[in-house]
Amino acid sequence: MRIDVITIFPEYLEPLDVSLVGKAREKGILDVRLHQLRDWTHDVHHTVDDTPYGGGPGMVMKPEPWASALDTVAPPGATVPGTDGAPAEGPCLIVPTPSGRPFTQAVAVELAARPWLVFAPARYEGIDRRVIDDAATRMPVHELSIGDYVLAGGEVAVLVMVEAIARLLPGVLGNVESARDDSFAAGRMEKLLEGPVYTKPARWRDREVPEVLLSGHHGKIARWRRDEALRRTAAHRPDLVAAFRPEELDRRDREV
Ligand code: SAM
Repeated sequence: MRIDVITIFPEYLEPLDVSLVGKAREKGILDVRLHQLRDWTHDVHHTVDDTPYGGGPGMVMKPEPWASALDTVAPPGATVPGTDGAPAEGPCLIVPTPSGRPFTQAVAVELAARPWLVFAPARYEGIDRRVIDDAATRMPVHELSIGDYVLAGGEVAVLVMVEAIARLLPGVLGNVESARDDSFAAGRMEKLLEGPVYTKPARWRDREVPEVLLSGHHGKIARWRRDEALRRTAAHRPDLVAAFRPEELDRRDREV
C-alpha cells in the first residue's frame, strides 16, 4: 500500500518508522512518503494560513499550497497497481477532522483494501473548504474523525489511522488470527469489546487465572470469552449493547 502524508510537521510522523508500521515499511508492504506542505508556497515566509472570511478567531489553511501539493503528489489520472493483482487504482484522500464521520474498525477494513491513501492533516481551523470539494471531483474523499474531542492538528489522527489500517494488511501481523478476535473485528466480535486476557504464571500475587482457561476445553473457553466480551461491552459501552438485535446475538451465540 502506498501512503502519502502532506503536512507542515513531517517530523510528527516519525513514529511511522517504529514497531509494526516501521517493520511493514522495511518489508515493502507499506510505502510511506511524507511531504512538507510549505514546499508548495511561493512567499518568503512560506505562508500556509490566512484570516477566515466572515471574521472570527483563528486562521484557515490557504487553498493554493494544498491544491498544488495534491496535484503534485496525486496528479489527475495517476494510479498504482491494485492489491492482489486487482486493476490499477487511483488515490483516496483522507482528511482528518473532528467534523468528519467516525473512524471505526469497519472504516479501517474498508481503507485497508485500497492500494493508495493520501492523508491531508490540517492545523489551525482547518483547510479552505474548496480544496476538499475540488479534490472530490477526481478522487474519493473521506473526512474522518478519530473521536469526539479536538486536537491541535491532524498528524496524530494520521498516526492512529495508519496504524489501525496497517495491522490489517497481509504480512504485517505475525499471526493473522490475532486480529480476528480483536474488539470490533468483523464477524464474531463485531460491536463487541474483547474480554480480559491472561498469561503465565497461573497464580500471581494470590490471583488465579480463571480455571476455564486452563481446562483445555475449546468450547467452554470460547463460551467464557464470549460471555466476558458481552459483560465488558455492557459495562464500558452500553450504547453498543443497546444497538444489538436479539436475533444477531442468537446467531453469533450458536457459532460459539
Ligand atoms: N475548527 C475545527 C473544528 O472545530 O472542527 C477544529 C480544528 S483543529 C484545532 C485542527 C486540525 O486538527 C483539524 O483540521 C484536523 O486536521 C485535526 N483534528 C482535530 N481533532 C481531530 C479529530 N478528533 N479527528 C481527526 N482530526 C482532528
